Amino acid sequence: MKKVDLILQPKGLVQTVDNKPTLETGKALIILEGKIEDITSLDEAKKKYDSKEIIYLNDHVLIPGLINTHNHMSMSLMRGIADDIPLMDWLNNHIWPTEMKFVGPKFVEDGALLAIGEMFLTGTTTCSDMYFFPETTAKALEKAGMRGQLVTPILDFPTTYAQDGDGYLEKAEIFAKKYSGNPLVNIGLGPHAPYTVGDETFKKLVKLNEKMNLPIQIHLHETKGECDDSLKSFGVRPMERLNQLGLFSWKVQCVHMTQMNDEEIDLAIKKDLSVVHCPESNMKLASGICPVPKLLKKGINVGIGTDGAASNNDLNLLGEMKTAGLLGKVDTLDPTACNAEEIFHMATLGGAKVLGLQDRVGELAVGKMADIVAIKEEGFIDSFPNFNFLSNLIYAQSSQRVDSVWVSGKRVVKDGELVTLNKDELLERTKIWQEKLSQSS
Ligand SMILES: [Zn+2]
Repeated sequence: MKKVDLILQPKGLVQTVDNKPTLETGKALIILEGKIEDITSLDEAKKKYDSKEIIYLNDHVLIPGLINTHNHMSMSLMRGIADDIPLMDWLNNHIWPTEMKFVGPKFVEDGALLAIGEMFLTGTTTCSDMYFFPETTAKALEKAGMRGQLVTPILDFPTTYAQDGDGYLEKAEIFAKKYSGNPLVNIGLGPHAPYTVGDETFKKLVKLNEKMNLPIQIHLHETKGECDDSLKSFGVRPMERLNQLGLFSWKVQCVHMTQMNDEEIDLAIKKDLSVVHCPESNMKLASGICPVPKLLKKGINVGIGTDGAASNNDLNLLGEMKTAGLLGKVDTLDPTACNAEEIFHMATLGGAKVLGLQDRVGELAVGKMADIVAIKEEGFIDSFPNFNFLSNLIYAQSSQRVDSVWVSGKRVVKDGELVTLNKDELLERTKIWQEKLSQSS
């Protein structure tokens, strides 16, 4: 008998069959050294494997850990600080002044841990983050045991993190080299947006990446105003400008994309760009609607992101999935658009593809990392009756049914409680920041 670390025996598990999420029953999932070693019948599992631990989950369905493809984790400390105003007012008069005053390693650490706690409890196991002091965020991910892509911020104006484009790029290079090959944390470049990064810095970034070959994530075509301003200043819309600057030599992760004409969709196909859909942030800031059904039809890969909690205002990807589904339907006046299977794909394997991690995460399959969420089935009044698992997961309230979470086979949530983080401590630390930030406004 082969010795393994853990056997999970759930009521059911969701596997990808013919590109569709399919609920399978009567199977056990076997974990060895952080990876899924086997998925087999209960009888086979008993015959073949000698496990250190067996967990019976008679009332649970396992799904792959969800993937939040765009976040600013530490902005969780600014949840609700400024609501119901347009993007540029929100940034210029609220977010950026607060950041200039308070953002440093301690702010980033406390905000990141708060965000990780919230994401674990709502079924997210991988998150992409763009924020200052990413070295501190990396430590928070390692402490909590969450998988992440950290795109280092690149801007042309000074912040508490760096002074100018060169300063940000220098830090990005050092950080990426330090974390190269890390099993949990992937590093990428995060030019903030076309309106905060000038041509010279973009050219230097392209040069740096010819050497580093890192993933790139950027806020792009978030609002109509961004596209109009670019036309005035550069004679072209932002996508075309970035194309001319050579940024699309890589599979860039384009966040928001609420403004896309047919030519730009063709360019995205030609350059194999990925799109990150952040429906709730786009709705809250009234930025616009990403044309997801059209993009999916054209074969463009789309992931889902929450964006930061200051513009959402939560990091619950299960809720974001429902919003993405409903928004796709109302935008096209087509109830078949963004169906539950497509939404599930976007939050799992689609998200993994956005981050270039599809060989490691995104589905429950042999050889992939054991990033797993156990959803409890029985006893929830708002998830009953239960005709269809996927329907209840996406369209009914489901985040309170997240019972257990594993990342690389390590349990980070048990019986709905955090294991690697102390919830009381997170709340205590957050209260201190709440006081500091309220005194200054
Ligand atoms: Zn963002």
